[in-house]
Amino acid sequence: MTYILEGDTGDWEVVIGLEVHAQIISNSKLFSGSATSFGAEPNTHVSLVDAAMPGMLPVINEHCIEQAVRTGLGLKAEINLVSVFDRKNYFYADLPQGYQISQLYHPIVGEGTVILDLDDGSTREVGIERLHMEQDAGKSMHDQDPKRSFIDLNRSGTGLMEIVSRPDLKSPEDVGAYLRKLRSILRYLGTCDGNMDEGSMRCDVNVSVRKVGEIELRNRAEVKNVNSVRFAMQAVEIEARRQIDVYEDGGDVIQETRLFDSVNGETRPMRSKEHAHDYRYFPDPDLLPLELTQEYVDNIKATLPELPDERKARYMGAFGLSAYDAGVLVAERDTAQYYEEVAAGHDPKLAANWVISNLFAVLKEKGVGISESPVSAKSLSKLLDLLKDDTISGRIAKDVFEIMVAEGKEAEAIVEEKGLKQITDTGAIETAVDEVIANSPEQVEQYKSGNEKIAGWFVGQVMKATGGKANPPMVNQMLKDKLK
Ligand code: MN
Repeated sequence: MTYILEGDTGDWEVVIGLEVHAQIISNSKLFSGSATSFGAEPNTHVSLVDAAMPGMLPVINEHCIEQAVRTGLGLKAEINLVSVFDRKNYFYADLPQGYQISQLYHPIVGEGTVILDLDDGSTREVGIERLHMEQDAGKSMHDQDPKRSFIDLNRSGTGLMEIVSRPDLKSPEDVGAYLRKLRSILRYLGTCDGNMDEGSMRCDVNVSVRKVGEIELRNRAEVKNVNSVRFAMQAVEIEARRQIDVYEDGGDVIQETRLFDSVNGETRPMRSKEHAHDYRYFPDPDLLPLELTQEYVDNIKATLPELPDERKARYMGAFGLSAYDAGVLVAERDTAQYYEEVAAGHDPKLAANWVISNLFAVLKEKGVGISESPVSAKSLSKLLDLLKDDTISGRIAKDVFEIMVAEGKEAEAIVEEKGLKQITDTGAIETAVDEVIANSPEQVEQYKSGNEKIAGWFVGQVMKATGGKANPPMVNQMLKDKLK
């Protein structure tokens, strides 16, 4: 669906590109041996390199290189066997070096692709322009004291991957789908934990608008450091509206950096857009160009896990699931693993329904992830076993599942304890059917005069009389025979 914003002068469309900073999963920093764990006491994970003491030299962390290559391969991107670290010079109190080590001219990863899974089940490709490695800065804290600011250098020097998309996104929904998919890929790869609320994945949103039908791109504004998927989607909508208002009031949108204020629902100017030359980029003389061999890259490629897109294709092919269901199940690795355990030995579509409808509802209600599910995959699988061998009906299975959630018991024990076994004994069902027919002369008359819809009413009555335990296909067949 096309996302169009109506203005006073006509229809507008939005052009969006994203720059995502993803913190590399690594025990130590990009150029030093200090730890990277989140939430430590301020300034306890700071080496002399991170504090930029004079004369310190950076030493590249090989694990970070491997993680960047792994990510590039997961994005189906070209890996550059030669890349170069550059200094990006700027002054800020939380950057004691006075420059950030980054990669401008020769990034480690070139063009790649991310496939969006849209809400209607369709997919679309978004181009990745590049991925480069760089250091994170420290953190300035301005809200701890009325007069002073504090600096925490724990984050200083932590390895980041900056992943830059092409301006291929066209709506807030696209942005949401892109960020979710990218996060899913990074988590499958184990290269970034994707926790936006802890800041380990942050995104800069580049937004411009143009009249529908225009080819040329207009000036863009960059909304910096948005820290949730929902905020990124909101930022697009708010910033696009602002730009349209500017144009329609006869003004011009200037290229600048803005910040997103989620409380007031607005974006505000931060600084006019800087250009690469403002930073006096030059190759870092302390670091040699990074040279990789094709063999090194191939070895990493051989260890890649099955990624969400391939897994989704497998679920649609071998399991016959819809694009939507498959997409939902593969989004998180834990969910996919849970599903596969439940589906083993069962009808995959039935298993998918149970996970997506019944289990997800419970998880949502309890506000927990699948790893904290009150019903394990094994237990749910055993419940499906009871359905499969006709021990219980689908109706009863839902009740049993509710008790499993509430009491943490196994399905078989619940069925035994509460006497919920399905009645498949012909005699018992026949008694119930005969009784219902004998007590319902009016309905029998209606059925015989051609109202076949009333058959469902008879089934309901028999199920009621047997406490929901009669085998439904048997009840159906018997009613049909007897009402003839
Ligand atoms: Mn950056």
